[in-house]
Amino acid sequence: MSEKKIRVRFAPSPTGPLHIGGVRTALYNYLFARKHGGTMILRIEDTDEARFVEGAKEYIIDALKWCGIEFDESIEKGGNYGPYIQSQRQDIYRKYADILVESGNAYYAFDTTEELSKLRSDAEFNKETFTYSSANRGSLNNSENIGVEAAKKLIDDGATYVLRFKTPVNEELIMQDIVRGEVKVNTSTLDDKVIFKSSGMPTYHLANIVDDHLMEISHVIRGEEWLPSMPLHIMLYRAFGWDAPEFAHLPLLLKPTGNGKLSKRDGDKLGFPVFPTEWINPQSGDKSMGYREEGYFPDAFINMLALLGWNAGTEQEVFSMQELISNFSLERVNKSGARFDPDKAKWFNHQYMISKSDDVIAVEFKKILDSKRVDYSNLPLEKIISLVKERANFTKDIWEQSYFFFERPTEYDAKTVKKRWKEDTPITMIGLKEILFNIDDFTSENTESIVKAWIEKKELSMGKIMNAFRLSIVGAGKGPHMFDIISIIGKEETIMRLDNAINIIKR
Ligand code: GLU
Repeated sequence: MSEKKIRVRFAPSPTGPLHIGGVRTALYNYLFARKHGGTMILRIEDTDEARFVEGAKEYIIDALKWCGIEFDESIEKGGNYGPYIQSQRQDIYRKYADILVESGNAYYAFDTTEELSKLRSDAEFNKETFTYSSANRGSLNNSENIGVEAAKKLIDDGATYVLRFKTPVNEELIMQDIVRGEVKVNTSTLDDKVIFKSSGMPTYHLANIVDDHLMEISHVIRGEEWLPSMPLHIMLYRAFGWDAPEFAHLPLLLKPTGNGKLSKRDGDKLGFPVFPTEWINPQSGDKSMGYREEGYFPDAFINMLALLGWNAGTEQEVFSMQELISNFSLERVNKSGARFDPDKAKWFNHQYMISKSDDVIAVEFKKILDSKRVDYSNLPLEKIISLVKERANFTKDIWEQSYFFFERPTEYDAKTVKKRWKEDTPITMIGLKEILFNIDDFTSENTESIVKAWIEKKELSMGKIMNAFRLSIVGAGKGPHMFDIISIIGKEETIMRLDNAINIIKR
């Protein structure tokens, strides 16, 4: 690692909600910054007015907060390199665009949208693709063709124009990427990208590199979809005479099948969220699922994302944020795409579920109970959670695994009745009820040893009794250890449930 100060940025465009691939980019930037004692910056790139989506900026900020990804400099935090939103930096870009024109690295282009689409469709007709490049710029409607003086006159007369970057001809660009190693491209294969629009706004490319330079960004860590922009960015740095930052392009997140990029539309189609938190489309009102609302713990979600494209080189899979920070390195980021696995995401949540303390889970579980208007005032919630969480991936699963602590059964699972409730069962349940009625110390250990001794003495079948007992108390053939259950619901409730079962269950 060089001596220079580490400053990285996450630079989302507020064109919609943040895809989990974007969260992973933010996370890798964050881990890298924290590992090296560097600075993490949030910069909002909103120069594309046409694609601006109401509420997206707020969504991004809120979602990253939920993930626990913190910024040192941002719109909210401020900092010495602001403003941290590009729409407030317009004057800066204008100045740098002019510098490029003066140095001969950019030119005025007057081609109208209609002219360009005609060129495109003509090319298509000939089964070719039109690109505005060094090969044809001399014959198009721009200052390279008509001369700077004529162009300036047109502008004085009110003509609208864009600025295009003047890509050098036939030069072999050799670039370094931390993830991909050497990347080579011949400049003649590149087009002359628009860097400044007729609206007075820069395009992404110009604004992005000007800001990365002015904000003293040391490493650009971003998604692979930006790799094709790297040559232009490198050429822009060179045109300004600036040192370029180091680049690391992260592998794509792939669909669970491994075929193609995981897109924003996949989540709702495939039944798992692709957004960190729920997104409500401001135009259509359509809702897209979020990991937060699906019941994921933010630390489990982050852990899962961290391993999509990076590994510590060991067998370890469960990492706290602190462990991720100390283990992270860009050198261990994979080149190939990372296949998203929704089952693995659930597995991660389960790992966090079983390792979290019961009082932490109880806070969330109470919300679920309250929404169901369940009375839990006399029940030891934490104990109940500890008994069932092994079978739960999410807090909402805890209800599925424990509702019978809170509600007396009113019906009995038909299949279990058929299998477990025999002709002589009511008689044995009456016997069991009497035994339990006479026990004062209703702890799990005590009831268990007395009941088991009774079963042995009477030479009854342990399995038969315990299965019918479970059906009577739970209403089904599931649940944790029977004697733990009755120690929690208490003697009176246990007797009542046995009575009910004896009276209600008919074979
Ligand atoms: N605004 C770009 C985006 O939306 C940033 C790309 C970059 O990091 O350079 O992803």
